[in-house]
Amino acid sequence: MSRPRIVVVGAGFGGLHTVRHLERRIPTGMADIALVAPHDYMLYSPLLPQVASGLLTPQSVAMSVHRLTKETRLVPGHAIGVDPASRVVIVCRPTGELAPVRYDRLVLAPGGVTRAFDIPGLAEHAYGAKTLAEAVLLRDHVLAQLELANDSRDPIEREERCRFIVVGGGYTGVETAASLMRLCEVAARRYPELRSVIRWHLVDIAPKVLPELGDRLGRKALDLLRSMGIEVKLKVSVREVTADKVVLTDGRALPCRTLIWTAGVSPSPLMETLDKPTQKGRLEVGADLRVPGLDDVFALGDAAAVPNLAHEESAYCPPTAQYASRQAATVAENVVSSILGRRLKEFRHRDMGLVVDLSGNDALARIMQMELSGLPALAVTRGYHTLSVPSTTARARILANWAIRRFTGGDTARLGFAHEGRPSSFVANEAVDYLDAQRTRREGERLLENLRERYGED
Ligand SMILES: Cc1cc2nc3c(=O)[nH]c(=O)nc-3n(C[C@H](O)[C@H](O)[C@H](O)COP(=O)(O)OP(=O)(O)OC[C@H]3O[C@@H](n4cnc5c(N)ncnc54)[C@H](O)[C@@H]3O)c2cc1C
Repeated sequence: MSRPRIVVVGAGFGGLHTVRHLERRIPTGMADIALVAPHDYMLYSPLLPQVASGLLTPQSVAMSVHRLTKETRLVPGHAIGVDPASRVVIVCRPTGELAPVRYDRLVLAPGGVTRAFDIPGLAEHAYGAKTLAEAVLLRDHVLAQLELANDSRDPIEREERCRFIVVGGGYTGVETAASLMRLCEVAARRYPELRSVIRWHLVDIAPKVLPELGDRLGRKALDLLRSMGIEVKLKVSVREVTADKVVLTDGRALPCRTLIWTAGVSPSPLMETLDKPTQKGRLEVGADLRVPGLDDVFALGDAAAVPNLAHEESAYCPPTAQYASRQAATVAENVVSSILGRRLKEFRHRDMGLVVDLSGNDALARIMQMELSGLPALAVTRGYHTLSVPSTTARARILANWAIRRFTGGDTARLGFAHEGRPSSFVANEAVDYLDAQRTRREGERLLENLRERYGED
């Protein structure tokens, strides 16, 4: 292979770290590395709730691909199908055109999409908290509700606008509820009449929050959330959502105009287009991160079911940033080894724990065997994120934002992104038309034929 074409899909924890490792391992100019992604940044999602609360600016968590890579070519758009037979990825460009991208080695790291259940009204009315746009919109929406409630004399409208329900007791839901609740506390200083009306709820069908933290810290998280004034309802989910009401499965109908849905992530539908075995939508790979039966295709991160060699209790690696970024080093090494005909390495990683920032001075951390809360946990949490962001510029922005907040307090100016009637649900935001395996093959052949007609054989 003279100059191998390596295509990486997804610029998140898995994808971006993969191209950076590839660039370090492959001498300049010896391979054509292409990164297919809808945006030219890697989203540092663990800090997204802090964008939703306005503690961090959006730029602080958007790590520029151009800054972090040297010779990688960015292909803007969504990969919507993979045809392993003709070694082509079909990309839907932002203009809506389809383009074929050929590969010798393919690495799939498209992450996940918010999991929507078949709950009446959820798709139309729920807000997501997974993308940068959603985080910015959410902050504006919450602040707009308070402004409108303050301006209304109608007690029913006030109640609807001042009740916020977060569904999902994992780290996304817990951190989002806690940080937006604090934003409301700051905003409510300007609206004394609303203070007794504002209500935050966190609901989850599971019997506990943050199960990843273990029993003791999980209970502590629950106590902390309740002491902050968040009403936590467990073993309960949502039965129906309308524009001004949320009905829970325990029969309660709560007047509410803001339902934030964080109840889980599904692997990217792209993984189904390969027609290979999946585990709950995650593409099955070997411990070497290679797709069985497809020697030139690798997958990692939230969208891949990677055998967990270090932990007997769970068969597959958990879908976390910690695992995705470490799998990237192994995948890059194995891509290079597969080109050079060397033996591939197995991925093995021992879970380092979890950090949860509950906003203000509250945090919880389980690091190795240590369980921390309060200021020590906050220091570990902030220290961990500071070291984990891959860009010095972003690190400087994050530290500056934290310092500014410490010395100047919170800011509640609305930026003007949210207005009623605009489609804001996560279902609309994540709508991508993926192809099935048959359509992928047909489109792939058609697009390649067009290419051959225009440019010759290859
Ligand atoms: C709010 C929040 C908080 C979190 N907190 C933590 C935490 O504290 N600790 C932790 O370990 N994990 C945390 N996670 C989970 C963590 O973010 C994920 O496990 C991690 O991002 C997975 O990495 P990935 O590379 O698989 O996917 P991602 O990082 O999601 O990257 C996927 C990339 O693929 C792109 N993409 C999607 N579809 C396509 C397509 N069809 N074609 C091309 N590109 C595509 C996306 O735009 C994105 O660039 C959190 C997640 C969220 C949402």
